[in-house]
Amino acid sequence: MKVLVPVKRVVDYNVKVRVKSDGSGVDIANVKMSMNPFDEIAVEEAVRLKEKGVVTEIIAVSCGVTQCQETLRTAMAIGADRAILVETAEELQPLAVAKLLKALVDKEQPGLVICGKQAIDDDANQTGQMLAALGDLPQATFASKVEVAGDKVNVTREVDGGLETLSLSLPAVITTDLRLNEPRYVTLPNIMKAKKKQLDTLKPEDLGVDVSPRLKTLKVEEPAKRGAGVKVPDVATLIDKLKNEAKVI
Ligand code: AMP
Repeated sequence: MKVLVPVKRVVDYNVKVRVKSDGSGVDIANVKMSMNPFDEIAVEEAVRLKEKGVVTEIIAVSCGVTQCQETLRTAMAIGADRAILVETAEELQPLAVAKLLKALVDKEQPGLVICGKQAIDDDANQTGQMLAALGDLPQATFASKVEVAGDKVNVTREVDGGLETLSLSLPAVITTDLRLNEPRYVTLPNIMKAKKKQLDTLKPEDLGVDVSPRLKTLKVEEPAKRGAGVKVPDVATLIDKLKNEAKVI
């Protein structure tokens, strides 16, 4: 069984992003970029399924600028077998990515697509769901456990008040939650090996997809600044402050 793992290049989670002065977005010039953390978990899960002998080939896919090649090389260093870059300088919104992925699913016929639950830049949390809808595929979002059994996959999801387990028939779309696994450390020999793995580049036109944006960002603002906190010496002072200063009790 083949697995397709979409990986997005995003601003590194340690970077404190700044809003551009004209409010048109955040400044990503000269900022460290990395693989979306939920996508690292997705690649790791695919590799674990391969190690269990359930999966035969892992294909990492990234849609975006030329530098997404670096993200794909990282995916291959974790253990993906080959990679596809759908290259475009156009701003890509989740629907456009879902359409590109749908075209690749038609081409590659994977048994599973494992996406991240959301990209930490736009926090859209839409692409996996849109892909499932476009491809008419079963979906299980926010997976915390994945078990392939024959032509089915059992996915445990964390929901309010407990765990829910779904059984999906393959092919299917899964999106990963934080507790699914802890991605392995990428070793230097694996980084070197990844350089030699196959990376194909396509354009959205090659897949017959129009990626032009459908949504317009009107304004991006910094959250309001919070005042500095104070340390209180004892519980009595805390209660006094909550009563008389903050007036919350
Ligand atoms: P989002 O819907 O933007 O929050 O993204 C959810 C997931 O879709 C990500 O974790 C990735 O697995 C995938 N995805 C989104 N955008 C891209 C992209 N440009 N290239 C590859 N995968 C993507």
